Amino acid sequence: MATSWTFDIRSALLVGALLTLMIGLVLLVVGRALPAAYRPSVRWWVGATLLQPAGFALLSLRDTLSPILSIVVANAFVVMGLTAYVVALRRFHGLPARHGPLAAAVAAMVAASFYWGLVDPDLTSRLIVVSIILAGVLGTSAAIIYRHGRGPVRHVAGVPFAAAAAIMAYRAVVLLFDPSLVTTVFQVTHVQLLTYAVASVLPVIATIGFLLLCTERSQHELERAARVDYLTGCYNRRAIEELATHSMAGARRHGLPLSLLVLDIDHFKRINDELGHAIGDLALMESVARIRTTLRTEDVLGRLGGEEFIVLMPNADGASAVQAGERIRSSFSAQPLRMDGHHRTVTLSIGVATLAPMDREFSQLLQRGDRAMYAAKNAGRDLVMPDAMTGWEPPPGERAV
Ligand code: GH3
Ligand code: MG
Ligand code: MG
Repeated sequence: MATSWTFDIRSALLVGALLTLMIGLVLLVVGRALPAAYRPSVRWWVGATLLQPAGFALLSLRDTLSPILSIVVANAFVVMGLTAYVVALRRFHGLPARHGPLAAAVAAMVAASFYWGLVDPDLTSRLIVVSIILAGVLGTSAAIIYRHGRGPVRHVAGVPFAAAAAIMAYRAVVLLFDPSLVTTVFQVTHVQLLTYAVASVLPVIATIGFLLLCTERSQHELERAARVDYLTGCYNRRAIEELATHSMAGARRHGLPLSLLVLDIDHFKRINDELGHAIGDLALMESVARIRTTLRTEDVLGRLGGEEFIVLMPNADGASAVQAGERIRSSFSAQPLRMDGHHRTVTLSIGVATLAPMDREFSQLLQRGDRAMYAAKNAGRDLVMPDAMTGWEPPPGERAV
């Protein structure tokens, strides 16, 4: 037996509003587990998921509430909710706030709702203008997501915003050509069905998408933090060992050379003793910055610990690694480091080692670099010393550059 199926837009609106409210509460709770840096953005998003359903709840009470509430305030809430998504997304991507265009969208919405809702009631004109404004705001969110987000997760939030913007634009165009498609707000036409589907489905999917963006980013940050030295921002020992093992395999496979520099700051203890540990920390940061200025893009800098650093040099043979080491050494001895008003010339002892056929593991290569660095210390510091296996010897009579 066939039963007739009816779709009641008002109930759909209320169910959508309730779902949005609930997903907003979920975000509020889950947001506490996210890094503190995400809080402002999460707060704006939660605000959006409160304003938007409040607006739709008011819209659905058209017959019981005054037009000022059920048209002007309702539309204002809806557009404010949608602009709050834009603000949340801009914050999330670290973009500067641009409230001007958003405030203009809200003002235009209030003006259009007021004029065509109360002063000179005209549903078609009102819906066309409202649709254009909403399409613009929704499209802005989609644009931010696609311009600044990476990876497939961004589609979960991006697609609903883009689809909603397209549907709003479609509604504006359709109504321009055929106003009979919507003669009352709750009329069940394909245009209104699409609109209300957007209203109830968009916030739920988009909020899930936003949560995914947040968790994905915090995952990336954790992974990064595990690989980076907290003080100097270069790779830590663990990351360097991983990268070096990888580079060794690559060098072997392609028959390319691979060299490394082990760099140790000379008499670093004196900086700590004379200027304090905080200035010592600054000296380490400044040293990393200075080493970086002399490196090629493919070179990888890491901190082995304390005041000892390593530079991995893919595709560099012993001679060019010694030259690079010499460039670094002289950049330190030629000019003092500046640390918070203190100027001090700091020198480096640098050991150079090049991958040899007998090296099974990175630790063997590192050990030779380390030994060469100690040889430089013993020979008087402020020196670059190649390991015997690098196959590079300084010209007779010259100091070990
Ligand atoms: P050498 O020329 O023989 O290398 O002498 P040195 O003083 O540089 O070497 P030593 O190993 O005796 O001392 C290293 C010092 O580095 C001791 C330690 O307090 C300091 N140090 C290690 N890590 C840090 C850090 O993160 N911050 C600061 N400020 N000092 C550190
Ligand atoms: Mg030292
Ligand atoms: Mg040391």
